[in-house]
Amino acid sequence: MLSDRMSRLRPSPTLAMTAQAAALKAEGRDIIDMGVGEPDFDTPQFIKDAAFQAMQEGKTKYTAVPGTLALRKAIVAKFQRENQISFTPEDIIVSAGAKHVIFNAFLASLNPGDEVIIPAPYWVSYPDMVAFAEGTPVIVACPPEDQLKLTPPALENAITPRTKWVIVNSPNNPTGMAYTRSELEALADVLRRYPYVSILSDDIYEHLVYDDFVFSTLAQVAPDLQSRILTVNGVSKSYAMTGWRIGYGAGPRDLIKAMSMLQSQSTSNACSIAQEAARVALEGPQDFMKEWTQVFQDRRNQALAILNGTPGLSCLKPQGAFYLYAFCNDLLGKTTPTGTLLKTDGDVSSFLLDSAGVAVVPGSAFGSPPAFRLSYALATDLLLEGCHRIAHAVSLLQ
Ligand code: PLP
Repeated sequence: MLSDRMSRLRPSPTLAMTAQAAALKAEGRDIIDMGVGEPDFDTPQFIKDAAFQAMQEGKTKYTAVPGTLALRKAIVAKFQRENQISFTPEDIIVSAGAKHVIFNAFLASLNPGDEVIIPAPYWVSYPDMVAFAEGTPVIVACPPEDQLKLTPPALENAITPRTKWVIVNSPNNPTGMAYTRSELEALADVLRRYPYVSILSDDIYEHLVYDDFVFSTLAQVAPDLQSRILTVNGVSKSYAMTGWRIGYGAGPRDLIKAMSMLQSQSTSNACSIAQEAARVALEGPQDFMKEWTQVFQDRRNQALAILNGTPGLSCLKPQGAFYLYAFCNDLLGKTTPTGTLLKTDGDVSSFLLDSAGVAVVPGSAFGSPPAFRLSYALATDLLLEGCHRIAHAVSLLQ
């Protein structure tokens, strides 16, 4: 019944963990879900109002496949205002979330055996999307010594004549680490030597950066490479609009055209009402983000202090997103109070779920074990309770 290509897809491990936590909760267990990948804030009211108004005005019909002109113009203005990158509406496609943009991009551009360089830890969907499109994921380990980021030598080592894309995700899911302007410039220096390599810059966490970190993106710091860069972004994380399903890509016109053609034969346009809400989100007041980032920053600091104060766990201090990536090498080989030997980070995550009632996602899902990712996109009291439970559970290991 099923096609061969389905064998190249695995269910998303993050969604699987969320489902497992929800099932335990439904059984009445007291579970703190730290596996979540979306802000716990509600979509701002002015954005909801815009959706209501769009419906009242009859903006309920098919739109242009790559998105309404009004939204694409708002996206062009966003890139100019926030990133100093010039586009025209023809360079933009709007899809059902950033995930859909990336899926379209790989399906529209990869031939069998084309390689895509994916720095690890990576967002879980990249390798599966590449494999589904018959490309070959080339995973490049980015160790803590390199701040879990791709370095110029590691990039250069990974490039072969078959390299089609390299993915740069900053701030990163699952680590929260973000690339500085000079780090991106150094990667651009390598990329200039390989004109056949394109770059997918996944900026979905752009606005969620903390302390004095200044977000930069590759097309901004290396404008001469712009014709080789697909910049992916969306309203999901920055505007707490994960369920609205609006993401966008900006890049070379022939690629955007191909992605649009692919979309025309699959989903057609993203939801017309959500597009109008996204337009208002991008054009409206942005001040609520300051409050949100302050809350996230405080949570990051408090959670980090508890985890790094727990013998056996260690986290780098991330600059953005809402995740902490806790290495747990020292817990492997230990035994739980019920006599289970912890052999993998999957065992550690199961132990935390069973004994502490805390759901986290094992690092092996992100290509960099042994570790686990926890999200701090949950109420501060629950977050701190969850971190204390983790610390207590870890202290019981022998
Ligand atoms: N890229 C990264 C790195 C993500 O973490 C996510 C969502 O978790 C996405 C893209 C997809 O975002 P969207 O909800 O817009 O599809």
